[in-house]
Amino acid sequence: MTRISYSTQGFIDRDLASALAAIATAGFPQAEISSQAPHASDPLMGSELDQFRSMLRDSGVGAATVHAPMRENVLGAPDETWRAEKMKVMSDYLRFTADIGAKGMVIHPVPNPMFVTDPERPELSQIMRDATRRSLDELIPVAQDAGVRMLLENLPYNCGYPFLNMAELRPLIDPYPEDAVGLVVDTGHAWTSGDDPADEIRMAGSRLWGTHLQDVDGENPQDNHWVPGHGGLNWDQIREAFDDVGYEAAQTFEVIVPRHGESLEDLARQTNEVAGTWGWS
Ligand SMILES: [Zn+2]
Repeated sequence: MTRISYSTQGFIDRDLASALAAIATAGFPQAEISSQAPHASDPLMGSELDQFRSMLRDSGVGAATVHAPMRENVLGAPDETWRAEKMKVMSDYLRFTADIGAKGMVIHPVPNPMFVTDPERPELSQIMRDATRRSLDELIPVAQDAGVRMLLENLPYNCGYPFLNMAELRPLIDPYPEDAVGLVVDTGHAWTSGDDPADEIRMAGSRLWGTHLQDVDGENPQDNHWVPGHGGLNWDQIREAFDDVGYEAAQTFEVIVPRHGESLEDLARQTNEVAGTWGWS
């Protein structure tokens, strides 16, 4: 059984049913469901949830993971009102993730500085560290109850915030239960931040339960989200690192941007072809 998966973010220009149809056509058996509109922008319940599940069933594409809302939806919110509000959002999405049969939910640990008032205050780092741990403490029972693993992602922000890469994320999550908290390595975020994605994968090690595979420019990378091979990442080394850590969860591609004027359909098809040359599909 192939483990490849494609983020619906790659087809955010159309509704979710059409995005899933395009993902199926490109040859992917599963997807990461984006929670950006017009995709899963509400954690549905009741009859709307039932409709969502039949839409998913009809698509023939399974939900491997859900990407929780982004922007201000983080664990390490720098003020308590903000943090408390997001705990409700995260809890609702954890239950929604379980309800659509996905096993992992991708979460951004800390906010992009653009969403933070006075974003360079020196005390922010400690405030975010404490808030992140408090949020994990609160969400773990919800995640365990739902049977969903929270997957904390490395982020490409050029700032002094904590928990942006595996060197800090792995020690953060080590004390927490394996069934509730894992890690996602985004290859393009890693290189954009000056970290080697293969090293990040090894550092995440046995706690790695998700991927965002995307290529970036070798020189001056800008979180490009290109098809693997369209940029400068060393994919042989990246695949070797997956083998070294015995990675067995979904191999999710987060390809969004054409480098050479391709259509979004082209990008998904080309990504599937790359996965095929790696023996993944
Ligand atoms: Zn990502």
